[in-house]
Amino acid sequence: MSHTICLIPGDGIGPEVTDAARAVLEASGAALSWVPLAAGAAAAEKYGDTLPPETLDAIRMHRIALKGPVTTPVGKGFTSVNVRLRKAFNLYAAVRPVRSLNGIKTRYENVEIVVIRENTEGLYSGIEHEVVPGVVETLKVTTRAGCERIARYAFEYARSRGRKKVTVFHKANIMKMADGLFLDCARRMHQSCAPEIPLEELIIDNGCMQLVRDPSRFDMLLMENYNGDMVSDLCAGLVGGLGVVPGANIGDEGAIFEAVHGSAPDIAGQGIANPLALIMSGVMMLNHLGERASADRIKAAYDDVLAEGNPDELTRDIGGRAGTKAFTKALLKRMA
Ligand code: NAD
Repeated sequence: MSHTICLIPGDGIGPEVTDAARAVLEASGAALSWVPLAAGAAAAEKYGDTLPPETLDAIRMHRIALKGPVTTPVGKGFTSVNVRLRKAFNLYAAVRPVRSLNGIKTRYENVEIVVIRENTEGLYSGIEHEVVPGVVETLKVTTRAGCERIARYAFEYARSRGRKKVTVFHKANIMKMADGLFLDCARRMHQSCAPEIPLEELIIDNGCMQLVRDPSRFDMLLMENYNGDMVSDLCAGLVGGLGVVPGANIGDEGAIFEAVHGSAPDIAGQGIANPLALIMSGVMMLNHLGERASADRIKAAYDDVLAEGNPDELTRDIGGRAGTKAFTKALLKRMA
């Protein structure tokens, strides 16, 4: 069966890593056709909109996208394209598997955590105003419906994949109502969806300390939006950085697969970005589409390249001296 994939190169290192991911996915044996689409700063220049209607229409039609990162201006400028996309398609579950990789040396071993982040509400509702000059308010919007659906997703995921434990990070000691509601929904969904899987509750500051002391004690993490954003990057740091952590934004009407990392303006255009995180996101996409053999083929190739540890085949962020293209070539060679 052939699948049509919306492909959004995005900004910064986006076009470099999406080119690499496309080549590897095409070599995997899956029948894929691509619809290239504009989004981000590049789209704003060309179409006067960071998220042109053509892009939204195509994703609405095909329901699956592979997306490079997009730049969002800090402290001013346009609303995040990512936030707009996640809201437009109700992609309420961000799924970010973080695992130790053979050949990538870090301070930790045996990390195997799936971070599930609520993706549509909380502080990312983008509702801010100046009450009086010098005083601003940002609203954290938390709904029972939003908390229930992400908790249900997490526990159903845990059950269907035989996970060992779900830990909720929260700040319900301070945000008694908002995080209290999140926690209450997690407890209730746990009872109704997967009571046999242990549920652990940790106040997030303690949770972060425990994560950096011994990440191997965690299996799945469930968090609201803002906390999940921070903790995803923290978890990436445990296993080798942002170059090796994939992600999926899942909703009931579609899914967008993208790496956790951003557009990395500091290295954009230099041909040195690590495309692995987006390639891994592509593997998640193939699994989502039921193309398991193709997904396994890519996974075997990158596991092999990483385990072999030849610096001429690894990008700099993971200890090598290769560029994006040489790394991609090494994967393609393993898959030939
Ligand atoms: P970033 O993730 O772009 O970069 C952080 C650091 O990690 C940088 O030093 C960068 O060089 C490095 N890095 C990131 N990806 C890498 C890769 N694939 N290979 C090698 N090194 C890599 O985070 P930032 O600098 O805080 O953000 C830059 C821009 O990206 C901002 O505009 C931000 O809003 C945006 N952003 C977008 C997304 C997204 O589109 N999903 C996610 C996060 C940040």
